[in-house]
Amino acid sequence: MIKVNENYSKLNDSYLFFKIAEKVNNYQKNHPEKDIIKLGIGDVTRALPKVCIEAFHRGVDDMAEDSTFHGYGPSSGYDFLREKIALEDFKKRGIEISADEIFVSDGSKCDTGNTQELFADDISIAIPDPVYPVYLDTNVMAGRTGDFKDGRYDGVVYMDCTKENNFMPEIPDKPVDLIYLCFPNNPAGTTITKVDLEKWVEYARDTKALILYDAAYEAFIRDDEIPRSIFEIKGAEKVAVEFRSLSKTAGFTGTRCAYTIIPKQCMVFDNTGAKISVQKLWNRRQSTKFNGVSYPVQRAAEAVFSDEGKAQTKELISYYLGNAAIIRNALESLGFECAGGEHSPYIWVDGKGKESWDFFDMLLDKAQVVCTPGAGFGRCGEGYIRISAFNSREKVEQAISRIKEALK
Ligand code: PLP
Repeated sequence: MIKVNENYSKLNDSYLFFKIAEKVNNYQKNHPEKDIIKLGIGDVTRALPKVCIEAFHRGVDDMAEDSTFHGYGPSSGYDFLREKIALEDFKKRGIEISADEIFVSDGSKCDTGNTQELFADDISIAIPDPVYPVYLDTNVMAGRTGDFKDGRYDGVVYMDCTKENNFMPEIPDKPVDLIYLCFPNNPAGTTITKVDLEKWVEYARDTKALILYDAAYEAFIRDDEIPRSIFEIKGAEKVAVEFRSLSKTAGFTGTRCAYTIIPKQCMVFDNTGAKISVQKLWNRRQSTKFNGVSYPVQRAAEAVFSDEGKAQTKELISYYLGNAAIIRNALESLGFECAGGEHSPYIWVDGKGKESWDFFDMLLDKAQVVCTPGAGFGRCGEGYIRISAFNSREKVEQAISRIKEALK
């Protein structure tokens, strides 16, 4: 008899965005005349930068000739892309990361979800609340948690991010083995200072823990004092893995390209306490389970790191940051307390006592605006909604005037 992985039955509800899509579809079915504005799921709306499209086309043309055709590529990415990333994202910013420490993939969702496979079943994990659901759900699927009770899985060390601590995870008061951090944060839009990040690196070093640092939104940081990479912190190369993605940086959500940085010095431990290279484990996993990102996509990705590419992606992000500022200012003018919206495309809005899903339903019903209920990101997200800046300026302005009207 074929048996199910019982851990799947522990998973809480359907994946958040499926539930939102279901509600929006039902609403649209019942109100076909209404025009809905989506500021919910964090999906970009603007076209790929021109420089990427040109490189993408050239990549496709290469596939049309025997002499330039590419079949299976290296599972960790072509050197032309890995070298560009190492140079532009790291070396030019004074960080020692080399091309062979960069692993190109088809998404940070897969990478942040798959990395836990490398570690023992009985490790303890520390996860912020609220959180990007992938970190938690993939550990539930792997059987590292108990049952879901009162909005929480048994066995997880939750790091509460609330108004009282400015939505910043605090170092756990008990030892943990694997720590998930995300800055700029999804969903709360917060960033971390170098001093605070240093404390995490020091903690991981002292306790032999590993930090999984999700920097999917690093390109939104517009202040040189805010770290864009955990590897700006001395010693992080021994205790951290970093995830980066072109999804939001360059509009690649439908094109798919991301990369994970695993320094050579980053180690975990076997039963005898001997050091094992995380990079070797990841290489082994990826070469077994992953065939790499397609050649034309990697050519399009390479273009992001050219001078023109950097200028075009900067413009793209400035546009979304402009939207974020409009949303945050408008919500604040309506008397809502907000976090995020600066160095981040997300605005985390305190619902002034309203429950998240009620706030969501009200905005859908009265303003035909879709947001994301904070409760979907964890128990501490209850009472909040997340508004995303990913839409056209026109739609954002329209959404804001509808929200103002609805809340009058
Ligand atoms: N990490 C965070 C925090 C995200 O919000 C997202 C996407 O929304 C991802 C990772 C996934 O990125 P990708 O599109 O590269 O899979």
